Amino acid sequence: MKVLVAGAGGMGSRFALKLAQAGNEVVLAETWSKRLQSLQTDGLQADLDGQEVQLKLPAYAPEAVPRETDYDLVLFLTKSMQLADLVRILLPAFGPHTYALCLMNGIGHEQTLTKYLPRERVLLGNTMWTAQMTRPDHVHLADDGSCELGSLTDDPDQVKMAVTTVNVFSQAGLKAHLLEDPRYSVFRKGCVNGTLNTLCTLLECNVAEFGQTPLAHELVVKVVKEFAMVGEKEGLHLDVAEAVSHVEDCYSVIGEHYPSMYQDLVKNNRPTEVDYINGYVATHAKKYGLAAPLCELLTGEVHVKEQLQNAK
Ligand code: NAD
Repeated sequence: MKVLVAGAGGMGSRFALKLAQAGNEVVLAETWSKRLQSLQTDGLQADLDGQEVQLKLPAYAPEAVPRETDYDLVLFLTKSMQLADLVRILLPAFGPHTYALCLMNGIGHEQTLTKYLPRERVLLGNTMWTAQMTRPDHVHLADDGSCELGSLTDDPDQVKMAVTTVNVFSQAGLKAHLLEDPRYSVFRKGCVNGTLNTLCTLLECNVAEFGQTPLAHELVVKVVKEFAMVGEKEGLHLDVAEAVSHVEDCYSVIGEHYPSMYQDLVKNNRPTEVDYINGYVATHAKKYGLAAPLCELLTGEVHVKEQLQNAK
């Protein structure tokens, strides 16, 4: 498969490395000039499950990606705030047989992608892999994980592409699963991010540390119920008990992990994706005449923390 990975930060690097190691043709598109320079000079360098790896892959600024238009897949793994610009800039790389796949955290990417691309060309999903950019020229990849994806319509070619992608990703060790309804899965993953990412960032702790606190369960249930309330209005009947247990499984599976939002704000002093997680629920609850007070408060608190730290 020929894959253009759009966003070669921590997660983009994980997927690019695994896909390339499995024999796929992988090209990188990266906006951050420091990162791009290191990818072009030294290649992709990572500590992958305790082993140092280095792999030279073609890497370009998005505007400079060769207009070959024979990519099978453009895999979006940038930050939510960068998605719209990146899709727009990369449109010339989409040929008649190219599909987009978004595995990023956050809700609402479906709308962003389908603003530029036909719905029949968009695959959607999420990932439970972890990744951490330790320096502009190095990525730390530990922990077990998985990913899941599916097609937005029942167009036979799109469904076939989703199956092919799952197979290719699984052969590359990325433990991919096919989803019947990727929109449901995005909301379910949103529950993980809207609890663990946001709370670990505000409380400055890792996943296991948060999970050990006596109030963790109550807080998780309350936040998940707000996601379910908004999901219901969008035609998704989220199973609250299952979503809560999905969040709580993380205490043991990725307990040592500091979520990506923590890495953004606490470690790297960067703005977060909170507007696409708790913020999505808070604003959409309002739109439907409902209230999501916890999501509203958590979004506000993260923004205050960003401002106090002058995150940029
Ligand atoms: P990342 O911050 O490592 O990289 C994403 C992009 O952000 C990069 O391609 C780069 O363009 C930009 N960037 C990063 N640091 C920068 C800096 N200091 N200055 C300028 N630009 C910079 O993000 P990621 O962790 O790879 O996340 C990609 C997507 O995957 C996000 O939606 C994230 O929520 C999701 N995700 C991440 C994890 C994780 O453990 N990292 C887990 C699940 C999902």
